[in-house]
Amino acid sequence: MSDTQARPTLISCGGVHDPADTAVFERLPGRLVTLTTRLAPSPDDPRLGLSVRRFLPTKGRRMVGAWCFVDHFGPGDVSSTEGMLLAPHPHIGLQTVTWLLEGEVLHLDSIGSRQPIRPGQLNLMTAGNGISHAEESPQPRPARLHGLQLWVALPDRSRAEPAAFEHHEELPVLPLPGLSAVVLMGTLAGVTSPATTHTPLVGAVVDVQAGAGFDGYTAWLPLQRLFEYAVLVIEGEVSLDGQALDDSELVYLGHGRVGVELTSGPGAQFLLLGGEPFREEILMWWNFIGRSHGEIVSARALWNAHAPRFGAVVGARSSRLPAPPMPSGALRSRGRR
Ligand code: MN
Repeated sequence: MSDTQARPTLISCGGVHDPADTAVFERLPGRLVTLTTRLAPSPDDPRLGLSVRRFLPTKGRRMVGAWCFVDHFGPGDVSSTEGMLLAPHPHIGLQTVTWLLEGEVLHLDSIGSRQPIRPGQLNLMTAGNGISHAEESPQPRPARLHGLQLWVALPDRSRAEPAAFEHHEELPVLPLPGLSAVVLMGTLAGVTSPATTHTPLVGAVVDVQAGAGFDGYTAWLPLQRLFEYAVLVIEGEVSLDGQALDDSELVYLGHGRVGVELTSGPGAQFLLLGGEPFREEILMWWNFIGRSHGEIVSARALWNAHAPRFGAVVGARSSRLPAPPMPSGALRSRGRR
């Protein structure tokens, strides 16, 4: 995934400012963004065939643990459109986490990975000091596309490591009364994903059985007190601690919870994100996460100069995406919100 704004803003996030230190319930609405980079349509352009909603970063909150970017794309029919067509673009200082619910996407990167991803599988790309990649709907392809892309900020001690790519076809499932959770990243209730993480966190997709929490029992999702959490409904409707949620908003839950009580209609599914608050202050701009303005300026210049730091993506269907201009103004206010 790439930030496709023509003039992305520089956002300061992380650090010790303003983390919720108690349990809260904040509704953070998503917004429509563009996905394909060749057509550059408006978000509701019918050629795209796919809506993309971005939930992080938002004005209300920049991070949840080390999670700093959340896109939910589809569900939609991409049979008569370009589908996903993200031209080669660079990343530094983060991991990209891709999870599909329907369809197929081909990942190509500058360290030689060429990996289709299908529903139930995880693609994890660790950018480290620099990588470039493309994400494309393959040809031919299933008509439907539906998925999530998430970014995880790397801590300072890991971010200079070489770029890496992992594909996981088998992920552990945590069975609970009324629920089952596929653990994509990190640990949930003692069940740990094989995917490489660099800070204490969790990412899980939770299926809620029809009628969970009714009929005299409680569907309870265990959490850990030291993590902050957020929940994003993928499908259906879920009530959490008695409050109804749908797929239009990310709900930030804050800290200090040992669990949440759930009830559900038929076939609901949601994403759980959590982690220890990310104490380092970071700067996000376009597809880069750094620690200083100068570092971002340098990464941008090197990408646009075709420097070897970002390698080359072989076999992509579209030519590389140039970095947009940087804003001349000052940073947005610091802090987690
Ligand atoms: Mn990307």
